[in-house]
Amino acid sequence: MVVGGVGERDGFGGYRSQLVGELSAKGIKDLAVLRAISQVPRHIFVPEAVRHRAYEDSALPIGGGQTISQPWVHARSLELARLTGRERVLEVGTGSGYQTALLSLCADQVFSIERLPALAQQARDVLALLGTRNTSIMLGDGTLGWRPYSPYDAIIVSAASPEVPQPLVEQLAPGGRLIVPLGDRDQQVLAVCTKGPDGHVSCQTVSDVRFVPLIGQFGFPGEAG
Ligand code: SAM
Repeated sequence: MVVGGVGERDGFGGYRSQLVGELSAKGIKDLAVLRAISQVPRHIFVPEAVRHRAYEDSALPIGGGQTISQPWVHARSLELARLTGRERVLEVGTGSGYQTALLSLCADQVFSIERLPALAQQARDVLALLGTRNTSIMLGDGTLGWRPYSPYDAIIVSAASPEVPQPLVEQLAPGGRLIVPLGDRDQQVLAVCTKGPDGHVSCQTVSDVRFVPLIGQFGFPGEAG
């Protein structure tokens, strides 16, 4: 992943290495995930005004009342998905597109859904700038999934849901892993759900997290809902 002025020699490599060190110290062990974080230029996924904070381990505003998640949350979600590079992955809540870029390095094909048009377009533009070829972004309600490309080996939901959206359960492959923050609008736990051969899904909670709400038919109602 190298684009003129963006890439290994973009002047931010030292900050990325520091971030990788911080994430390892916080318990992230998956080397493919750490390698992806060392390669993807997070600063180009955030607005100019917060670019100087791009390599802090914190969530940052990206416009439309949304945030790019904390790098530790991305790293942990990716680690929990146990990707080997061969998977077809669905991401719900593209946001900035940063996690989409990380996924593009850790999986084979990435399908991502965002409900806000401006963010979906911005993410497409940045991913194109990086020369990413294995990602597709759709504008829509991600709680419905993206059925034509299902089943998915892994599904990562990047917004807080009151429960696991049923269409996502249906679109998960047997043996697949679904990572989703579950809870109310203010506070959630990150859950890892696995689908058995009988189609039954069982979930385990991993850690407390705080995400923006998943707004949609199988999530929270929107302003008018
Ligand atoms: N991984 C992204 C990042 O770091 O940039 C996460 C962005 S933010 C925490 C969650 C995103 O989910 C927001 O961009 C929001 O618009 C989007 N979102 C919320 N409900 C959605 C839905 N039903 N379908 C698709 N996207 C949704």
